[in-house]
Amino acid sequence: MNKLLFLTGILFSLNVSAHDVHWGYEGEGAPDHWGELEKQCGTGTQQSPVNIANTVVKKELPKIIFNESNSKTIDIVDNGHTLQVDFKEGSSITYDGKVYELLQFHAHEEAEHTIERVRYPLELHFVHKAKNGDVLVIGVLVKEGKTNQEFQKLKIFKSMAKQEKLETHISFNPEHIYPEDKSYYTYSGSLTTPPCSEKVTWIIFKTPITLTEEEIDDIKAHLPKNNNRPIRPLNGRVILSN
Ligand SMILES: [Zn+2]
Repeated sequence: MNKLLFLTGILFSLNVSAHDVHWGYEGEGAPDHWGELEKQCGTGTQQSPVNIANTVVKKELPKIIFNESNSKTIDIVDNGHTLQVDFKEGSSITYDGKVYELLQFHAHEEAEHTIERVRYPLELHFVHKAKNGDVLVIGVLVKEGKTNQEFQKLKIFKSMAKQEKLETHISFNPEHIYPEDKSYYTYSGSLTTPPCSEKVTWIIFKTPITLTEEEIDDIKAHLPKNNNRPIRPLNGRVILSN
């Protein structure tokens, strides 16, 4: 093997793992310090999450179109920052004429986005990516109530160890976890974790879904405490709703 290539490989993996251990939600790696690790987190002007208020109503906002059957097999990962469900093959949506593949969803406690300063106990982020690299995240707020039938399929995560990845044959359909009423808020923001990349299209369903208190606690047990980034300023951005 080419020695230089080998060394570059080692340096690259060192670099990646250094990033992984550096950021978190408390101490030296807390959100206040993310700007020291990734410039955009500190200097970006279109950052997420935000408080959703004073939205501009626009009835004709694009519809989210769910393509084909959305049931796909998944892996479940406790990656130290969150509990994440990876889709082995992406199910896709079309939004505003562009196709986005669903890569994964993960959880934050408490919610990252607030609605007129109200904070829900949990927020799920369904991360989608288009062929040209554009990112779209569907945010689903969770409140306490009845269970969600589709969520029951994930219960295997309860027995997972920290930092474990579980490969499964579970077929999961995100459409079944979304609220029936798909009206939403939308704005242009960023990833809420380093590297805090901007130009992310955010779609947040207005209607929260419900999980039981026990289910919410089970998820929380796999999350670092308060793995939510503080609210970022809007800096003149407009939040639309339909
Ligand atoms: Zn997230």
